Amino acid sequence: MSKRLAKRVLLIGWDAADWKVIRPLLAEGKMPTLAGLIQNGVSGNLATIQPMLSPMLWNSIATGKRADKHGICSFVEPLGDLSGIRPVASTSRACKAIWNILTQAGLTSNVVSWFASHPAEPIRGAIVSDRIAALSATWTDGAKLPDGTVHPAALADQLEPLIVSPGDLDAAALIPFIPRAAEIDQDRDDRLVKLAGIVARASTVQATACQLAQRDDWDFMAVYYSAIDEFGHHFMPYHPPHVEGIGERDAAIYGEAISSCYRFHDMMLEALLAYAGPETTVLLVSDHGFHHSNRRPSADAWQHPETWHREFGIVCVHGPGIRRGVDLYGATLLDVTPTILGLFGLPIGSDMDGRPWLEICEAPPSVDYIESWEPDAGDAGMHREEFREDPIGSALVMRQLIDLGYLSPTSEDGRAQCEQAIKDARINRAVAVTSSRRVASALPLWQELAENYPEEPGFQFQVASCHLRLSQWKDCDDAIARLPQKLRESPHGRLLEAAVAVGEERLGDALAIARTVDAAPLKDAGLYNQLGQLFLSTCAWDEAEAAFRNALDSQAESSVAFDGLAQLSLRRGDSTAAVEHALSAVELTHFFPAAHFHLGEGLSGAGRDAEAIAAYETALGMGFDPQSIHERLATLYRLRNPAKAAQHRARSQSSYSESRGLIAGRR
Ligand SMILES: [Zn+2]
Repeated sequence: MSKRLAKRVLLIGWDAADWKVIRPLLAEGKMPTLAGLIQNGVSGNLATIQPMLSPMLWNSIATGKRADKHGICSFVEPLGDLSGIRPVASTSRACKAIWNILTQAGLTSNVVSWFASHPAEPIRGAIVSDRIAALSATWTDGAKLPDGTVHPAALADQLEPLIVSPGDLDAAALIPFIPRAAEIDQDRDDRLVKLAGIVARASTVQATACQLAQRDDWDFMAVYYSAIDEFGHHFMPYHPPHVEGIGERDAAIYGEAISSCYRFHDMMLEALLAYAGPETTVLLVSDHGFHHSNRRPSADAWQHPETWHREFGIVCVHGPGIRRGVDLYGATLLDVTPTILGLFGLPIGSDMDGRPWLEICEAPPSVDYIESWEPDAGDAGMHREEFREDPIGSALVMRQLIDLGYLSPTSEDGRAQCEQAIKDARINRAVAVTSSRRVASALPLWQELAENYPEEPGFQFQVASCHLRLSQWKDCDDAIARLPQKLRESPHGRLLEAAVAVGEERLGDALAIARTVDAAPLKDAGLYNQLGQLFLSTCAWDEAEAAFRNALDSQAESSVAFDGLAQLSLRRGDSTAAVEHALSAVELTHFFPAAHFHLGEGLSGAGRDAEAIAAYETALGMGFDPQSIHERLATLYRLRNPAKAAQHRARSQSSYSESRGLIAGRR
């Protein structure tokens, strides 16, 4: 076994925390605790995964696996008898969470309010389930926690007095968030009441977490706070600068809510760290960011709430043996569990989708891999088999029994909610698999959806896109033919058709279609970028350039468009322009492996070999086409470091499997 580096580990989750909102507050000295962690630790962006739905993401953080493996695919799940829905439950998680693995390894964990942690699992240590936050809304003195809220059950007596209800918060507690609260007409404006509810929930989580943290018996602790996300959806539209559609009075009254919420979290962090003690290794993470400033989609953050989520969250690691004041690059939320296992000197499951951040350690350790932690090897503190279930699977069986007449139907409302929950979970799962580039596995999921919901052509469109990505031209054509005429003839449909023509090397046809699409203005940057790629494939350089420029006109921060221009400059033999565009792309989206590769190509073409090596190595670290990169690195190192060149040559030729671990982490 590898060496244990961390005495204990504290994982803190701040839903939707975003560096872009935090940085100005740090600069003003308003988040001193976090500033200390950054200064004396490692920090960086944490790339999220799709779809950006919090329950799925926090379970990926706690398992190191994507949703198709951990099984938590939505906010809600159908009840077993199809009579309605409930919040996603711990009994539905299909694999071990980090606290189960640590239980199995004989370590003690405290878990507070993690997404889908109800009912509390019988782990070694303590769990306060996410039900506790919901209970705070209506909590009264002397009330009792329902069964399953805490493990061990005997802990309930200690925690019940700590629960904070909105009624416990007086004006002094709320004024810091909304200094002009007195001006609010409470009969017509319930935003202060909502804010009090969120603050009460966060305070409840904080109080129970501090209670558990001050005990000296734990190795690992995980605490989840939802308030930054909830504040975001309620109050980000009022955060300066001013957004069109927001009244001046609202902006004046609620304009400080977001900053105050972050300062509140900094204070809670300070207290929790004090209880945890200086020997604790701290990981602070968020599951995604939150759009602010001019990237806010509208004046209402509840309208399509997921569109407010930004693709980068935060990560900050601090503790004994962790490097100081260093940036972490290329991290994803799938890496959190493998990293914690590495810090404890425990082996990482090869079935996990992330990689450990060994580079954060002053003396990077070696880590061991095992096939999987899943097969039973001792007590992992999971629910007994008879309590665990796949809610979608059982709901489908139940539906069949009802449809066949074996069971009497449940209420129409309940049934409709269940059907929606089943559908949402299946879509989210299909998106999760598609976005992790496992197109062959995604295809049957979309085919099933297309069959089950024929009235929604979007699913058939996904089927066609999968065939395209699998280079199944004929199948793709067939799927396009099954699309309703309107969608088939839309720019989306035509671009798909043109891409098939490129695949079949009918470049003339592809160019003709691309030109018909180009004849009318397109709706968004994504379509222009697709069009640009088509023109690139058909060697229509000027039209490609125009398409990418149009993409930038509609979205100035389109890193894909800049990468397109970089590719175009490379084709035109203009290395200097390629470097400039590729740099713009990676400045906007650091986790963009192809753009780093194109940057390397440009730098190498411009004779800037040392910088080219760095760019290629970044792309390689992100899992981009290792074979091509090793080839290029071998060439670049040929004169300056023959030994290194030979290494890269060997790795480009044979050792694809050696780097498999790294690539697997990027899948
Ligand atoms: Zn979230």
